[in-house]
Amino acid sequence: MSQLHKFLFDGLPVRGMLVKLTDTWSEILRRRASNTEHGAYPDPLRDMLGQMVAAATLMQSNIKFDGSLTLQIMGDGPVKLAVVEVQPDLSLRATASLIGTLPAQAGLADMVNVSNQGRCAITLDPKTKFPGQQPYQGVVPLFDDQGQAIHQLSEVLEHYMLQSEQLDTTLVLAADASVAAGLLIQRLPIQGAGNLEGSRVSRDNEDAIGRDEDYRRISLLAKSLKREELLGLDVDTILHRLFWEEPMTRFEPLQGENGPRFACSCSRARVARMIVSLGADEANSVIEERGQIEVACEFCGVQYHFDPVDTAQLFVDAARQSQSGNTAH
Ligand SMILES: [Zn+2]
Repeated sequence: MSQLHKFLFDGLPVRGMLVKLTDTWSEILRRRASNTEHGAYPDPLRDMLGQMVAAATLMQSNIKFDGSLTLQIMGDGPVKLAVVEVQPDLSLRATASLIGTLPAQAGLADMVNVSNQGRCAITLDPKTKFPGQQPYQGVVPLFDDQGQAIHQLSEVLEHYMLQSEQLDTTLVLAADASVAAGLLIQRLPIQGAGNLEGSRVSRDNEDAIGRDEDYRRISLLAKSLKREELLGLDVDTILHRLFWEEPMTRFEPLQGENGPRFACSCSRARVARMIVSLGADEANSVIEERGQIEVACEFCGVQYHFDPVDTAQLFVDAARQSQSGNTAH
């Protein structure tokens, strides 16, 4: 089952989180693979999107924000767009669009930053907005201060966290066909349990960026985690291997209904209403041309099919409903 674990390093201004997405990640891949137009993601894109899903889950959980967090990469290469959306309750969905094919060993830059024009955007959209309020958006490039393309998504996001939250953050991300996982280590300006609630950043904090010995030691340990370990080992083993010398307090993992899980708002009923709203003439002309109506959800890739009989039934049902509606009025 997909899980999110939180922990504090006792007496130190450092906290951590580890996420492992299994069933959630499989569902995202299954929906895409079932799409007859696009088919399954090529491996390099799958692994990039999985890293994004893990990272966005960690970031949403980290900021305790009452609204959706969207992490997207607008690419200038074969991958035009990759998007993950995570709700405050950690339900999430993800998709990516690819034009053409990818080399088998394609890296981040080959996919989304061929001419250094790729961008990564993090959008926070509050649930309740005052009139005219726009979502908050932060955009970071996919190159470093010297203009060199960055090859790890974790590095791009570490830059973002430092810029936007003024906090040192270490991310280790990995994904394959069955697991999307991430480890986040963050230095916070205050010590102890208050760290879990998030905190206001003081001015003293700016002086401490990159200088806290405890954070640097724990960050180095985190960075020693190998891809195969993050993907293949269970959470207890990972935390013990990395931090066995560091006293830590762990919290109940978030899982099941309280944990990260797949959810998309699309449904067959919703697509059916859309077809009815097109009108019978339009629907019939699609059927004449293609033999059926096929609608894909642009946010998860799943396709809904309506054959001629299904479609005729939709309009019969709609007519019956509107008649009974008329009688009632
Ligand atoms: Zn969907």
